[in-house]
Amino acid sequence: MKSEQTSRQRPQTVLVALGLTIAMALVFVLDTVTDYAVAAALFYTTVILVATRNFSVRTVVALACLCAALTVLSFALTHSGFYEVGLVNTGFSIVAIGVTTYLALRLVTAEAAAGEARERLMRMARITTMGELSASIAHEVNQPLAAMVASAGAGKRWLAQEPPNVEKAVGAFDRIVSDASRAGEVIARIRRMTKGEVAPSEPFDFNAAVSEAVRFVQTEAERREVQLNLELADDLPDVLADKVKIEQVALNLLLNAIEATALVEAPARTVTIRSVREGAHEIMFSVSDTGPGFKPGEANALFDAFWTTKPDGMGLGLAISKSIIEANGGRIWASNRHPGAVFSFTLPLAARPHHLEPTEDGR
Ligand code: ADP
Repeated sequence: MKSEQTSRQRPQTVLVALGLTIAMALVFVLDTVTDYAVAAALFYTTVILVATRNFSVRTVVALACLCAALTVLSFALTHSGFYEVGLVNTGFSIVAIGVTTYLALRLVTAEAAAGEARERLMRMARITTMGELSASIAHEVNQPLAAMVASAGAGKRWLAQEPPNVEKAVGAFDRIVSDASRAGEVIARIRRMTKGEVAPSEPFDFNAAVSEAVRFVQTEAERREVQLNLELADDLPDVLADKVKIEQVALNLLLNAIEATALVEAPARTVTIRSVREGAHEIMFSVSDTGPGFKPGEANALFDAFWTTKPDGMGLGLAISKSIIEANGGRIWASNRHPGAVFSFTLPLAARPHHLEPTEDGR
């Protein structure tokens, strides 16, 4: 994917360089053949503006110096008109080239800094989501640890018997091994989710990813007496996306739904998690809850960064979810139902359309 992009960018850069060279030559000729009163050199500023979008800072500065030098050369070669007017115009043109270069480069640097800040913010928000989950994680890790301690105690007792009951002791040790790997899985999952690295899109089993996210919020749902209903479509084809990030979105929607549902009286607290195939090329995932829903007209605002109605909310979860889903070729939206809210997103299937045609076994 990356190499495709770079190979497409290279001819584009060459074309821009060629266009700029021609433009500079034209400006130079125009500036030289017209009399002193025509400040054609001002057109060099356009060359600078285009260059800042396509080349490095060093190249742009070099180009600006070249434009200024060409302006002086044109002035020296021009012989028609008033010399003083020409001198002033040349001065103006050089100042304009300098100022344009400075401002354009500042703009580009500021844009780059804003992009970096946004990246950092997204990473931070992800970690914050992890913070919100820490109670449930602690519980998940604690459970196997407690079970291991209990099994170790039991094992010791079986071995201390006269004669030692080796068979029962081996059973206790087996339980310790499986509990330890369960705790290890939890840690591995957390590691995967907190890593900031960008994973390439790859085909994966969407329902399995959703189930993993559901397992993650299970304890939180139990704690808040929220019932989770899973309605995952059978035989869902693989989707093509960044699995870890999609899990993060599913997690975010699930946590929001559990939180919203907890605002109503138990036992009406239900969150329904659905996956279905949507047409020939997509799947659709939705999380519906029985919470209070949102105000009519807010459906789009919910996805804005820093839009929150929670006293301790950051209002970033849905904004990040939206950028992840869109970056993976899907759509995300919210709707109200009575009672509660539904958050849905689509993702593209991994298989190309001709693979979707029914096969001999009818699938
Ligand atoms: P945060 O949870 O930090 O507020 P989000 O971006 O995840 O940030 O959510 C933004 C806002 O969207 C929430 O404050 C809430 O008002 C609204 N919202 C999100 N999920 C639901 C839901 N399931 N039901 C009702 N409102 C919701």
